[in-house]
Amino acid sequence: MRLKEKISLVTGGGQGIGRAIALKLAREGSHVAVVDVNLEKAREVAKELEAMGRKALALKVDVVDQKETEEMAETVVSGLGALHILVNNAGITKDALVLRMKEDEWDMVLDVNLKGPYNCTRSAVKLMSKQRWGRIVNIASIVGLMGNAGQGNYSASKAGLIGFTKTVAREFATRGITCNAVAPGFIETRMTEALPEKVREELSRQIPMGRLGTPDDVADAVVFLASDAAAYITGHVLSVNGGMYM
Ligand code: NAD
Repeated sequence: MRLKEKISLVTGGGQGIGRAIALKLAREGSHVAVVDVNLEKAREVAKELEAMGRKALALKVDVVDQKETEEMAETVVSGLGALHILVNNAGITKDALVLRMKEDEWDMVLDVNLKGPYNCTRSAVKLMSKQRWGRIVNIASIVGLMGNAGQGNYSASKAGLIGFTKTVAREFATRGITCNAVAPGFIETRMTEALPEKVREELSRQIPMGRLGTPDDVADAVVFLASDAAAYITGHVLSVNGGMYM
């Protein structure tokens, strides 16, 4: 087990990629706080983690709210004892072509996908600095690297998250804290399941490996970056995209 007794926090851990990350971290021995706006879903995942013999917390937090994220870090420390690994995974899409995109669609996506990681990182690094050990993994996207028509807000938020990752990596490198990003390609989730079969086939044709990724593909990369095997890696963007963009 690569993460024995480490304490992790996964935002947006109630479903999809975040749930897969929480489960993989737990499989490696970590106790996990599952943070989500949807408390019911967070509780379901926390129950799965407890069934694996881990300690788990389910917390209802909106990552956009700075006060809530500050309380979140304190609750994790009082409930689980420390905070070693932060995974900024919560993210949303509000797709529209730039000319049709409404201001609130821009603001909502930038708030959750970029201000959220800023809020959570801020509250976590205070604790990580004191213990002189920490791992931050931000879930970016292939779209932040290559752009995507209809996702001006989303691609800007994910490109911004990559810039933020590199800055945090530089600011906290001497305190034993690494900060990296994982940039998934198209992953089998509810979001992509909703696409028509034709679109999925067309997408698969653009992927050298000929298939969409799975939440576990992403979670494996996160576990690696959180482990001691990645101790000398910081400010890196790890693509998990089947070769779709390189
Ligand atoms: P999802 O919609 O299935 O899950 C996101 C979770 O985040 C949900 O449980 C939701 O309740 C929670 N959430 C949303 N807003 C929140 C907020 N303000 N505060 C706290 N929690 C909030 O999404 P997913 O497909 O599992 O994606 C997870 C991450 O991976 C996102 O950052 C997404 O941008 C990224 N990503 C996904 C794909 C893909 O193909 N699915 C590809 C690249 C990157």
